[in-house]
Amino acid sequence: MKNDTKCIEAGYTPKNGESRMIPIIQSTTFKYDTSEDMGKLFDLEASGYFYTRLQNPTNDYVAGKICALEGGSAAMLTSSGQAANFFAIFNICSCGDHLIASAAIYGGTFNLINVTLRKMGIDVTFVDSDATDEEIEKAFKPNTKLIFGETISNPSLRVFDIERFANIAHKHGVPLIVDNTFATPINCRPIEFGCDIVTHSTTKYMDGHDATVGGCIVDSGKFDWMAHAEKFPGLCTPDESYHGITYAEKFGMGGAFITKCTAQLMRDFGCIQSPMNAYMLNLGLESLAVRMPRHCENAQAVAEFLASNDKVAWVSYPGLKGDKYYDLAQKYMPNGTCGVISFGVKGGRKAAEEFMKHLKLAIIATHVADAHSCVLHPASATHRQLTDEQLVECGVKPEGIRFSCGIEAKEDIIADIANALSFI
Ligand SMILES: *Cc1c(COP(=O)(O)O)cnc(C)c1O
Repeated sequence: MKNDTKCIEAGYTPKNGESRMIPIIQSTTFKYDTSEDMGKLFDLEASGYFYTRLQNPTNDYVAGKICALEGGSAAMLTSSGQAANFFAIFNICSCGDHLIASAAIYGGTFNLINVTLRKMGIDVTFVDSDATDEEIEKAFKPNTKLIFGETISNPSLRVFDIERFANIAHKHGVPLIVDNTFATPINCRPIEFGCDIVTHSTTKYMDGHDATVGGCIVDSGKFDWMAHAEKFPGLCTPDESYHGITYAEKFGMGGAFITKCTAQLMRDFGCIQSPMNAYMLNLGLESLAVRMPRHCENAQAVAEFLASNDKVAWVSYPGLKGDKYYDLAQKYMPNGTCGVISFGVKGGRKAAEEFMKHLKLAIIATHVADAHSCVLHPASATHRQLTDEQLVECGVKPEGIRFSCGIEAKEDIIADIANALSFI
């Protein structure tokens, strides 16, 4: 099936007389006839549900759909994109380990890795997403356990060279994790380029309607943990908290990662998505393949309009010919990239503030990537405490504006921008 069809059909197939829509199993608990039946679940001898802090059928239907869209072997939902990235990393790394991360990633993920994971004893080396193979190789240490990157980085809109990073990771016997939030599996399927584990903030295009915060982890099932068993004791040696189960042995390459992540991390941290949110996420997924081309069409038109406007100093959009990442975008996302653009107006911070005042359709929000067009001037919002010099140091330009194109008519979005530009 094509992804367009999987958006509608994958993950849940009703049997005779059952509900057409995914049922919302809004229940903490599940009933069993005997303690023995239940015991088998606790021993991971049988699959089934016992407590929604770990697993819930509604969530699993929706995770199954995202798994099919990405071409993975197993998947799970989490309460947020932050939880998905935390779990994906912490399911592999523990205290004393090291990872390599692209520096061009979402600010929340950067903090998670750079501050919180360090507090947990997990060390990191950030590399430029455009680093040479030699520079990436140099970042490896004996205790390096994975590489992490974003298909299209939020908000810097760099395209990550998935295949190149995957080859380097595999040469060193470690997996590559890619956060595919901005591209979505409609525009890019990282597993086809060698990525081992895909993560998502489903809060963005997947939900797509400003409705629910959520995350997802998809395992490709292609990484051979046992072939590098000494690096991955969590997957390749007995788990004392689970009666001595060795995940990679018992569940194989296709199941070990997600089973361990559910049985250990979900059990202990409980960052589960509510079944009601999973149901709403599924509604978003059903139209994802229809919405993404529209987001891209709108962003392409807006980017081209901005690039030809003399009040605009620069435009960054990987779909724009001449963009630094155009060629990589053509390789990984030939049908379109995403709906987010960044650009700078001439006249610096003041002109950008003036521009923002006159927008009527695009709402000012820290959010991106859903049906409503929205806009942010980082220098006067998320980064407002910083001076112009400090802004430059952290890669935020004082005149920079991040614009997320919704699925309204492109003529109306452009008219809104043109009107606001006329005031500066
Ligand atoms: C928003 C975002 C996240 C964090 O997701 P939440 O659902 O807000 O926790 C992670 N990665 C990327 C690329 C994002 O855009």
